[in-house]
Amino acid sequence: MISIEEALNCIESQQNIFKTEVKPLQEVLGFALSEDILAPFDMPAFDNSAMDGYALCGLHQQYTIVGEIAAGDTSNFVLEDGDAVRIFTGAKVPANASAVMMQEKTKVEGVNLFLDEMPKAGLSIRKKGAELQKGQLVLQKGHVLNPSSMGLIASLGMDKVKVFSKPRIHMITTGNELVKPGQPKLEGQIYESNSFAIAGALEQFGFQCAQQQQVKDDFEETKKSIQKSMETCDVLILSGGISVGDYDFVKQSLEENGVQELFYKVFQKPGKPLYFGRRGDQFVFALPGNPASSLTCFFIYVLPLLQKWSGHSNLGLPWYAFPLQHTYENKFDRPSFLKARIASDGVEILDGQGSSMIQSMALGNALAFVELGQNFKKGDLIKCKLIS
Ligand code: AMP
Ligand code: MG
Repeated sequence: MISIEEALNCIESQQNIFKTEVKPLQEVLGFALSEDILAPFDMPAFDNSAMDGYALCGLHQQYTIVGEIAAGDTSNFVLEDGDAVRIFTGAKVPANASAVMMQEKTKVEGVNLFLDEMPKAGLSIRKKGAELQKGQLVLQKGHVLNPSSMGLIASLGMDKVKVFSKPRIHMITTGNELVKPGQPKLEGQIYESNSFAIAGALEQFGFQCAQQQQVKDDFEETKKSIQKSMETCDVLILSGGISVGDYDFVKQSLEENGVQELFYKVFQKPGKPLYFGRRGDQFVFALPGNPASSLTCFFIYVLPLLQKWSGHSNLGLPWYAFPLQHTYENKFDRPSFLKARIASDGVEILDGQGSSMIQSMALGNALAFVELGQNFKKGDLIKCKLIS
């Protein structure tokens, strides 16, 4: 059995052949850049007005209005001292303008412009290159594109982006007792829920489950299903059948399919019987079947591997430290990830910490971490990862 830290190190140190692609800008949300983006020109590309108002030549309180410049006008206005020109937000400011005065602080009588106050040099002019200068590093390789990055890249005039590809992900759920929701079930059977939770978690982080199969607790069937799935997937996620019960065939089936074990069993609660393996450039996680265990293992272990595969420079959900609303003693015999809720008045550890219990996870928004034997007083900081 290895520690949480060793398991995470093992995952984060995996190297794979990164695949890259060129995608239309509209489709790059959540993808990581596969190369640096440098500014192709200064931003802004020209001095422009931050206000609707008047561009002024010289610093006075009275001017003569000599014309108008709207956003998008490309003409080159030349002003003389004492001239003002009506200007609008985003319009190109004449080269010899000293400042722009917002229209709310002006009075107009015919061609005469009177200012309520003396302008300051450079007022309300967005200077060429103030945000970015030509050739400057704008976004670094490995940066995960968010909506702002997409807007930024568009403003640089680019409509295509070079990104790292995302893995093709398959999932196999195992268990004789499992019945798909919507079907009738008998006493002794349960509804299969892990594929829904994991598919949702994948989607939450910009990944997709391309294929899902369900198999019985049968060695041959499990082996065949893994073989078939691994013909085309990059990452395979299994659920259930990885413990030590007589009906747990996943580990043996993976071995028979040439998957090399990287670790099996992590000293943690929930999710002790977690398996991670590799075959060439393909990765396999076998998650314990208990719903809270499988989802916790997804957030802590599967996500960083998927991010690594996809070229992200930061792996895993970040840790935050928040004060606890109450005392807490870790009575479990292992370091534990606890279902928790972060609110404005601190962190609450929720009832329903059992590995099979998922309502507390649905109502919570975080996993809090406690070391073996760690005790907290009210107000002590506790480490948390936000999961929703
Ligand atoms: P296992 O890891 O196969 O021993 O399963 C552990 C527990 O999780 C058992 O109570 C199973 O019934 C339950 N379980 C396994 N797979 C799923 C699933 N896909 N959805 C919901 N519960 C499951
Ligand atoms: Mg099972």
